[in-house]
Amino acid sequence: MSGVQLTEVTKSYGPVNVIPPLDLSFDEGEFVVIVGPSGCGKSTTLRMIAGLEPVSSGMIHIAGKDVTWARPKERDIAMVFQSYALYPHMNVAENMSFALRLAGTPKKEVQQRVKVAADMLELTEYLDRKPKDLSGGQRQRVAMGRAIVRDAYCFLFDEPLSNLDAKLRSTMRTELALLHKKLDRTMVYVTHDQIEAMTMADRIVIMEKGHVQQVGSPREVYNNPVNIFVAGFIGSPSMNMLDAEVSGEVPRVKGNGFDLPLPKRLHQAVQKRDSSDVVVGLRPEHFSAATGGGGTSESEFSPVELDVKVAEYIGSSQFLAAEIGGKQISAAIEVGPDSAPLESGKYMFDTSRIYLFDRTTGGAIS
Ligand code: ADP
Ligand code: MG
Repeated sequence: MSGVQLTEVTKSYGPVNVIPPLDLSFDEGEFVVIVGPSGCGKSTTLRMIAGLEPVSSGMIHIAGKDVTWARPKERDIAMVFQSYALYPHMNVAENMSFALRLAGTPKKEVQQRVKVAADMLELTEYLDRKPKDLSGGQRQRVAMGRAIVRDAYCFLFDEPLSNLDAKLRSTMRTELALLHKKLDRTMVYVTHDQIEAMTMADRIVIMEKGHVQQVGSPREVYNNPVNIFVAGFIGSPSMNMLDAEVSGEVPRVKGNGFDLPLPKRLHQAVQKRDSSDVVVGLRPEHFSAATGGGGTSESEFSPVELDVKVAEYIGSSQFLAAEIGGKQISAAIEVGPDSAPLESGKYMFDTSRIYLFDRTTGGAIS
């Protein structure tokens, strides 16, 4: 089998288990992002793949080879860390080629590989510069370049962008996606930032406390989250969760301050349930101004009263901190750039986008 496989991998530090049995499989050439809150075990997982941390049990295969007990050097992987330390006394070319030179790679080949990597990362004109004469983004690219010159089977990234400012992060996301296209290598990227996961991944692995909650494409995890955790974690601002009850011949979902018709796709599922208690999930971006707006061909708009506390102007939209029946929610309302601050009153919700969850298990009702 090609790609990377983790089979029932566990990790404990003394008596503390941080990774319960974990099964993961990455296809060759795939860009996978492991995303989850801080402390959920992302770095530990990556370090076990890299061989920097021994597994407590289980097996790891890379490119069909059992590497569970292989040393990092023998795994054909390259890793980029969050805190990349460049050698300050070496220039960019020397920093990038350090590992190759250490391994005794012929000089010609070293030069060739550095040239290719530098071109790819747009660092060619900086090869003679020392790290102190580079911007943060350029330094980060040098750290990537150190990994790329190795041309490994699998690249591992541990939150490599988290030290950069927002604008640069967004540029680097695009560059990384391009880099993946050019290199066509398996890449496993770890982050706590769901935007990075959504924008870069072919597939996203959502992790909580060492457990995989869902694996799927960005569209799958956004459109069909399997539980409240995933629903709340993917999407920005976060999905609003309100306690509610389902009732009626033609089922509706009602709670404090709202009463919305359920879309057809949920009718069967709610009629099969014993309990009428649910949690309803309303994404901020599915609210709109009362004068209507946007939506897909399936959209069905129903009115809902919002008690607006704060309206934040961000140009194309306004972010509302509001209340429904006394419960805090957020809404993102698309409006023209000249719009006045939005006020309390009637808004619309696209009921084709309603999510329901079991109040006890947190699992999606679908
Ligand atoms: P993440 O990268 O998702 O933020 P980590 O993989 O770094 O999470 O850590 C997962 C858990 O393992 C955390 O609770 C952390 O405190 C614990 N942990 C990590 N490294 C060690 C260690 N060397 N000794 C003990 N506990 C550790
Ligand atoms: Mg980490």
